Amino acid sequence: MIDLAVYSARPDNSEGRVHPEPQEPSKSGRNPFQRDRDRVLHCAAFRRLEYKTQVFLNHEGDDFRTRLTHSLEVAQIGRAIARRLHLNEDLVEAIALAHDLGHTPFGHAGQDALNQCMHHFNGFEHNLQSLWVVDELEERYPTFNGLNLSYETREGILKHISRKNIDLHRPWLGGLAQRFDDHLQPSLEAQLANIADEVAYSNHDIDDGIRSGLLEMDALNETELWNSRRTFVLEMYPYLEGRRLRHEVIRHMIHVLIDDLVNHSQSLIAQHTPKSIDDVRHLPALISFSDNMKKQVVELKSFLFKNLYRHPRVLSVTQEAAAQIEFLFAYFISHPTEIPGHFRTVDQNCPERRTAHYIAGMTDRFARSEFLRLHAKTTP
Ligand code: MG
Repeated sequence: MIDLAVYSARPDNSEGRVHPEPQEPSKSGRNPFQRDRDRVLHCAAFRRLEYKTQVFLNHEGDDFRTRLTHSLEVAQIGRAIARRLHLNEDLVEAIALAHDLGHTPFGHAGQDALNQCMHHFNGFEHNLQSLWVVDELEERYPTFNGLNLSYETREGILKHISRKNIDLHRPWLGGLAQRFDDHLQPSLEAQLANIADEVAYSNHDIDDGIRSGLLEMDALNETELWNSRRTFVLEMYPYLEGRRLRHEVIRHMIHVLIDDLVNHSQSLIAQHTPKSIDDVRHLPALISFSDNMKKQVVELKSFLFKNLYRHPRVLSVTQEAAAQIEFLFAYFISHPTEIPGHFRTVDQNCPERRTAHYIAGMTDRFARSEFLRLHAKTTP
């Protein structure tokens, strides 16, 4: 690994784990953030990402992104940026691989439906759910729940949380809640992983959107980011078309986004001269696009929102999926003993939360098959 900057998150200045563990580095020679990454990679929730929807439902085609391939792309983009900024690649990778562990089946529609079901019970927030997975729901160790990840990895996974849930979960969140009370920034690695997520999905959703036939390549010309890269690529390869054009334009979009992010973040770092991760926490966010690029990213995202995420074909499939989530929620609330034993030990006082944990962990195909089985059973 390249030399780490003084303001990076370093294994030797980690805030540590909730449950004390033998002195690190471990016998295997891995530092705490490498161990975090490996724990995420080996957990059941990570394997289930393969069968969870990103935008297109899992069964719509084998070439579309899933939550798993999305998470791998976030990790790859995040590590590439971390190397250039001398930040901790291992930590970025651990956060990126874990950041979507709490996502429900059926993508955003599933999440909205579960949030609606939990309306009177403090809602459903997928970032908080990802933290729940790594802190409580995974069963891998003899003496504690969860994966016992380092503070810095947990901080990166949580990203944001509503005020209501900070107050509700203060004893559990500890320092993670304090950060929001004190208006402190997370590590640069956490800031970076968050933007790597945005770079990854904006670009791969264009790719999947065109592949699916829902987006027209020409329609994207109304966005500056796509149009400027397309013009650039066509100057080099005037006859390029179809999927090779699409891939080349997207490749150049990722390049300019990363270049802009690295250059602008470097200038912010030079301007504020943090000397430690503690300085980073007390400064404004330092990992950021330039104003001009921010504008282009906003334009692209609103294009995708309007033309892809709200496309009638996406909506009609996802609305059906949402109805299945609502059915499952109602069913397991009235049949609590059919929820697997482990979930029944978490949140003893809130059957709705236990039910949400169980449903959030389901893959698309498991949720669908449970819906069909239970629907048949309950319909005369
Ligand atoms: Mg994501």
